[in-house]
Amino acid sequence: MINIVLFGKPGAGKGTQAEFLKSQYQLVHISTGDVFRYNIKNATDLGKLAQSYMDQGDLVPDSVTINMLEAEVEKNQDAKGFIFDGFPRTTAQAEALDAFLSKKEMQVTATIALEATDDELVARLLKRGETSGRSDDQDEAKIRNRFDEYNQKTAPLRSFYTEQSKFHSVNGIGTIDEITARLTSIIDRF
Ligand code: AMP
Repeated sequence: MINIVLFGKPGAGKGTQAEFLKSQYQLVHISTGDVFRYNIKNATDLGKLAQSYMDQGDLVPDSVTINMLEAEVEKNQDAKGFIFDGFPRTTAQAEALDAFLSKKEMQVTATIALEATDDELVARLLKRGETSGRSDDQDEAKIRNRFDEYNQKTAPLRSFYTEQSKFHSVNGIGTIDEITARLTSIIDRF
């Protein structure tokens, strides 16, 4: 079983790459952002709770996010493995993921970061915002707030996974195919 955490700032290309990797390795792709957006669209209680945070570019509280992620994993009992996209984003989430997976005799195989500069990411997100309809992609102040959240709460996970010898990073600038090749060269080692 291969369980990959795709790591990187908003706009780094996690979702795009997850689409390729899930078919290549037959993994289940769980994007916590997508699950939240689905719940907002369907006006569920979870969606109502998450919306105010997402609209501001703030992280949704850990307890809500962790419960949701665990439920998504439980829905896929037959999975050969998972790609976690946008989770974990805090140390508490990473610790909860380790504890949850180990109860199931599973573990994170590798965490792979997609690296790009903030200026490149802002340009990508504003461009995506033209077609995605995502309000958090259309306003540079909200984008910068998402980067601040990342720097404060998510960046510490680099050392969390480095200490477990599971942290890898690839250059996230290039064509989609080039970046997929960089990722697969790491995943194929496992
Ligand atoms: P994304 O689609 O990954 O860019 O996520 C969009 C938004 O969903 C984020 O800005 C957060 O508000 C929320 N979100 C997604 N994943 C998480 C997470 N793991 N923890 C907290 N909030 C999250």
